[in-house]
Amino acid sequence: MAATLRGKTLRVADATLFQRIIAGEIPGEVVAESEHAVALRDIAPTAPTHVLVVTRVPYPDVETLAAQDPDALVDLHRLAARVAEREGLTADGEGWRLVFNSGPRAGQSVPHVHGHVIGGRDLGWPPG
Ligand code: AMP
Repeated sequence: MAATLRGKTLRVADATLFQRIIAGEIPGEVVAESEHAVALRDIAPTAPTHVLVVTRVPYPDVETLAAQDPDALVDLHRLAARVAEREGLTADGEGWRLVFNSGPRAGQSVPHVHGHVIGGRDLGWPPG
């Protein structure tokens, strides 16, 4: 598989886990799509709803996305809200979170920006 990032061609070995799922090389459950992003169910859910909203272009983290492609950032948030509504998380008495882990100390394990849409249970605060 080849993908491009800001004019640079990426080889298969360079593709991120989420690019490979989006490309169909690795199994994944895609639940919604938008122009700039794809929503896929997390393989190790931490709540009844745990969906990742992933940009099609593999920006490494949310601050890079915000700086380089604000339209895609807005689109990603809209997709997250659409997923939350579809999953019943915007109904009366419900609630949900959109979480971006950014950097190793925050627990980011995949260097391709993704927001976690989490809900369906009481969510504690502060987060761990
Ligand atoms: P983070 O730790 O914030 O980078 O989040 C990465 C997320 O990707 C974790 O919640 C993982 O459970 C999830 N994940 C890892 N591999 C897969 C996969 N093959 N399909 C779906 N989600 C995955």
